[in-house]
Amino acid sequence: MTHLDLVIIGGGPAGLTAGLYAARANMSTLLVEQKDLGGEILNTELIEDYPGIESITGAELSKRMAEHALKFGLKVETYKPVKQIRVDEDRKIVEFADGSTISAYAVIVAVGGEPTKLGVTGEEQYHGRGVSYCAVCDGAFFKGSDLAVIGGGDSAFQEGLFLTRFAKKLYVVHRRTDFRAQGILQDRLLGLDKVEAITPATVKEIGGDGDVKWIEIERDGRTERVNVDGVFVFIGFKPVGRYLFADHIDHDKNGYLITDQYMQTNIPGVYAVGDTRAQLAKQITTAVGDATTAVLHAERYIEELKHAEQEFPSAPKAKVAEAAARAELLVFSPGTVIVREGEESDRLYMVIKGEAEVTQRHPDGAEEVVNRVGPGEYFGEIGLLADAPRNATVRARTSVEAMAIDRATFRRLLESSQTTADEVRQVAKERKARSLRERAG
Ligand code: NAP
Repeated sequence: MTHLDLVIIGGGPAGLTAGLYAARANMSTLLVEQKDLGGEILNTELIEDYPGIESITGAELSKRMAEHALKFGLKVETYKPVKQIRVDEDRKIVEFADGSTISAYAVIVAVGGEPTKLGVTGEEQYHGRGVSYCAVCDGAFFKGSDLAVIGGGDSAFQEGLFLTRFAKKLYVVHRRTDFRAQGILQDRLLGLDKVEAITPATVKEIGGDGDVKWIEIERDGRTERVNVDGVFVFIGFKPVGRYLFADHIDHDKNGYLITDQYMQTNIPGVYAVGDTRAQLAKQITTAVGDATTAVLHAERYIEELKHAEQEFPSAPKAKVAEAAARAELLVFSPGTVIVREGEESDRLYMVIKGEAEVTQRHPDGAEEVVNRVGPGEYFGEIGLLADAPRNATVRARTSVEAMAIDRATFRRLLESSQTTADEVRQVAKERKARSLRERAG
């Protein structure tokens, strides 16, 4: 099985941004997308709220984003649907519909969602025969026709504006009188002569003679028939990310994945970004921001995990992954005291970069260097094991980057493997013996 640092699932703006950052960080990464690169924006005619680009088609922005990531070396496989993601110790196993699998330390889920259906009679029957969820894809089939868009959000208004190029008459059917679309979109669309709002109205049925010919709506308690040749439904969408997981993944009542501020889900090393994540705004700008944060955190998570596995080689990988996920990354400038002799022993530190000096104080007050610790080594275990105050001071000699895990996480790690507990005790014993020798000498 191929093993990578990162798999990105979904090739919309969020996935492509994650891919760009991962490629630039030299992470071994694969982006998979089950359709064409671009995601939802491929279904959007004009994008006019992406800073720095006044107006661009969805297709063009997708192309530019993809080319940008590919230029920096991102590997992409399109038409590769993911069947399931499962966790296996410290790895995430991504199973594809064709039966192949890939393992990675981290996965970024950028799969967006699918259009919400009205759920009325005729909708399914006439899908593709007048019922559509994408104006950009199907609008041109309706030149000179009477059309209806259903919904009152940005999508309904954006897509509605696009449809006015083809429609003779466009009805905007919305269940409330107030629209939630941005004011500028409302002004543009509703200001057109050929556009008529029908509110508050709910669609009850879609009917025709093989192709759509009418919708039945209920307004003020009365049922009316509105003759149209096409019905474009934009009433939101359902996030699909959670259905990819074999294990439970935290999500809200609408199915959006819940993350922390680093875009990490409750599964360490699994990130959710863009429209499949529980958040306020589903915008290209927020998707791009989510993805940036997720990659930067994933990069750190993977580095920390690799370090922790190196430092505790005998511990079960799942427990090390748990410890790494709980670790706090700390940076100390040269000369900073990281732990002080006599203070409470509350954490274990694993050195990632730099060197620290371990000193002990003689009864006469003089301080003596008894050890040095560098990358791949940990310190702070003596006090934690003995449940005693720190027996030495550790000071950064150079700039030091270290991962700190709390007492409870350290305990769980030791309890998970007798060999690990023995190894840590052995390190502590040797260090104590060494400091006694140094002090005696
Ligand atoms: P949305 O903002 O959630 O709007 C959905 C609309 O459909 C609402 O007006 C809602 O009515 C209506 N609706 C929901 N369920 C319905 C049902 N069962 N029957 C009838 N009507 C129903 O969804 P969206 O327009 O797809 O936008 C999704 C996100 O993408 C938003 O955050 C939006 O800002 C963003 N977006 C932005 C742009 C842009 O140009 N910046 C373009 C497209 C989308 P109520 O209002 O009564 O709830």
